[in-house]
Amino acid sequence: MVEHYCLFCKAKLTHLFADLGTCPPSNAFLTPEQCDGPELFHPLQAWVCSQCLLVQGPHFKRPQDIFTHDYAYFSSCSHSWVEHARQYVHAVTERFKLGKKSLIVEIGSNDGYLLQHAVTLGIPCLGIDPSAGTAAVAQTKGIPTITDFFTTRLAGRLLDRGTRADLLCGINVFAHVPDINDFVAAMTMLLKPEGVMTMEFPHLLRLVEDVQFDTIYHEHYFYYTLQCVKKIVEAHDMRVFDVEELPTHGGSLRIYACAQGAAHKPTGKVETVLAREDANGMYSLNFYLHFQDKIDAVRFGLMRFLMQAREEGKVVAGYGAAAKGNTLINYFGIRKDLLPYVADASPRKQGHFLPGSRIPVVAEQVIRDTKPDYVLILPWNLKEEISAQLEYIRDWGGKFVAAIPKLKIWSPHL
Ligand SMILES: [Zn+2]
Repeated sequence: MVEHYCLFCKAKLTHLFADLGTCPPSNAFLTPEQCDGPELFHPLQAWVCSQCLLVQGPHFKRPQDIFTHDYAYFSSCSHSWVEHARQYVHAVTERFKLGKKSLIVEIGSNDGYLLQHAVTLGIPCLGIDPSAGTAAVAQTKGIPTITDFFTTRLAGRLLDRGTRADLLCGINVFAHVPDINDFVAAMTMLLKPEGVMTMEFPHLLRLVEDVQFDTIYHEHYFYYTLQCVKKIVEAHDMRVFDVEELPTHGGSLRIYACAQGAAHKPTGKVETVLAREDANGMYSLNFYLHFQDKIDAVRFGLMRFLMQAREEGKVVAGYGAAAKGNTLINYFGIRKDLLPYVADASPRKQGHFLPGSRIPVVAEQVIRDTKPDYVLILPWNLKEEISAQLEYIRDWGGKFVAAIPKLKIWSPHL
């Protein structure tokens, strides 16, 4: 294996954080025709930099290969996610007094799930997203969208035509960009002197504590502590002046940053979160070296359950064909014999097959028709929403199962 170097500080990577074997890109759903062909399996690992403690996946797979027009994730498919975006847009509009003369730029704007709320409020906006399929949907909602990656090259082009942002935001994009220094430099370029940058990303503290190893996938290059993000932002003449802790994706941080010289006053929350990370031992390399044991404990728990259910003649169905489910299914080695199908609400995924495991993705109606004994909820971050939606499995004595942070089996509420 070749040597890998920290994508932020360039130190040589010498310590593994998690090794999940090899698997195809977790969003590369297969058509029936593609099931007759081969699939490329890539190593899936996360390393921790012993110098700056940034947890990162090495550069195995280029995002250009992943975010194509086939990219299956449309943010608007999740109602709770659209609502999350709506609340955010309303909150920042009020806090930073955005109006008809402002400009909101979203990086990773997907199908316009977020910027549509800016359109409703009459605030000019611009989306930037490399995926042509989702960007086309955003355009139909009246959201100007540039189909490209966000780089200093693109920021330079935008500056040339006079585009500068009052608010530059990104939800779950900060972890997806391999050249993090160029990305943050581009944000610095595009922001007005008093402009605000907000980024949301899963918090590594929650990932480790709740064993959310299935959020490790090829599209993710980074798994952040607040301390690491602060270092990266400060290396580009910005500063973090506020942070919020959010329940999304198992526990995320939303940072607020601005130019070093801007007037935004720091809140005490940054120090509070940093102190908590420190108290949990996250500023010592040792913290990162025992995560694999936690992953394998989850693996043994779920596999024991699935094999026992199979031996007893019980049927376990899956729900939620999200990327994180594919990571779990492929690393654990689950196939159709243990999980005959996964139901999902997205019509774009139905009729396709999960990458690697080739388990079929079906409509929810199949659960009603086949009455499985158990429904394994794969996207644990939507556990409440999904178990409420599938409450009817109690009609035939069905139970829910979750694997993470440890095996849990429960009956729907009566
Ligand atoms: Zn480093």
